Amino acid sequence: MFQTFLIKYGEIAIKGKNRHLFEDALVKQICHALKRVEGDFHVYKEQGRIYIDCDPGYDYDETVEALQKVFGIVGICPVMKCADEGVQKLGDDVVKFLRQAYDRHDQSFKVFTRRPKKSFPIDSMEANAELGGRILDAFPDMRVDVHEPELQLYVEIRDEIFIYSKIIPGPGGMPVGTNGRAMLLLSGGIDSPVAGYMISKRGVSLDAVYFHAPPYTSERAKQKVIDLAKIIAAYTGPIRLHVVNFTEIQLYIYDKCPHDELTIIMRRYMMRIAEYFAGETNSHALVTGESLGQVASQTMQSLAATNEVCTMPVFRPLIGFDKQEIVDIAQKIDTFETSILPFEDCCTIFVAKHPVTKPNVNIIKRSEKKLAEKIDELMKTALDTTEVLLIE
Ligand code: ATP
Ligand code: MG
Repeated sequence: MFQTFLIKYGEIAIKGKNRHLFEDALVKQICHALKRVEGDFHVYKEQGRIYIDCDPGYDYDETVEALQKVFGIVGICPVMKCADEGVQKLGDDVVKFLRQAYDRHDQSFKVFTRRPKKSFPIDSMEANAELGGRILDAFPDMRVDVHEPELQLYVEIRDEIFIYSKIIPGPGGMPVGTNGRAMLLLSGGIDSPVAGYMISKRGVSLDAVYFHAPPYTSERAKQKVIDLAKIIAAYTGPIRLHVVNFTEIQLYIYDKCPHDELTIIMRRYMMRIAEYFAGETNSHALVTGESLGQVASQTMQSLAATNEVCTMPVFRPLIGFDKQEIVDIAQKIDTFETSILPFEDCCTIFVAKHPVTKPNVNIIKRSEKKLAEKIDELMKTALDTTEVLLIE
């Protein structure tokens, strides 16, 4: 019965001239999200509102599900849109709305009218009373409750009239594209997809980099990362996924450096490469799935040692999260089942039995000097052979 959605968004974040940017980005992201849904949609702004008109054959559930992934949306309201043909007709439409939208008609209710269209013959208070009366006449078992109504009926009298009673929660946050772009280090694990989701929720567009170590890591491990990128792209919009062949660099580090420092040195090279591609793609920050103390490479000292090679800020949105809290989000955003598929990760292949947990940057730098002979060439080859996949 619903051919139109009214989209509610956070008003507080968008005072003044940011409003246009915010709304335009939101419209763009809504259009992008609806590309995944069968049917034709018309998304438009009107009088400080965003509406979506849907073609008759559209799938309601799929549409709502897609919209629930668009950051910046606070509420999704399926509305009945009617022409303004006076007070009597409005009453008829409200009764028709309740008849169609609900099976039972014995609940308490309250009518909330807004009347931006001042030429409508009665004001909002009068409309509330009039429509309440019409509802009681049509459905004798319903009753008015102004304090805790079971059903809240919203009526907006604009050039057209919008009637709705349901506000389906959206994900909140800011529309992607309003807060710059960042490069996500995306592994096949549980954490990094969640980190990407979190940063994107603040309005950041994402690209990603994955370090692949064939033949130590398989094609299926790479496919898993592509699948994860696809899942989060429903929230973040298109992602350019950079697949870096990291094998030679890893083997070289393994060959030359103390084994208890392998992880930290390897991570420093990951950060250097990620920062290079961030520069190439106009990103302003790096994003990782690290959480303080989770593993040896995520102590304060280790994080400092990996940071030391970058000049861009490194965002770690999960830094204060427990594993279970991360898992809860991974389940909510549907990455968990993919993340736990048991494929090897390049970080787990070359690990030492007893990695340093409090690396000293000067000692690490000294170890890295042992790579002087070939590392520049290996880095160049890794950058030159990186494959870029567009994930939508
Ligand atoms: P995740 O669950 O995200 O894999 P993790 O708990 O396994 O994280 P680490 O292996 O220490 O932690 O990796 C920390 C972060 O480094 C990851 O969250 C990710 O951002 C990045 N990272 C690790 N391995 C890779 C990889 N192969 N490709 C891209 N990024 C990686
Ligand atoms: Mg991992």
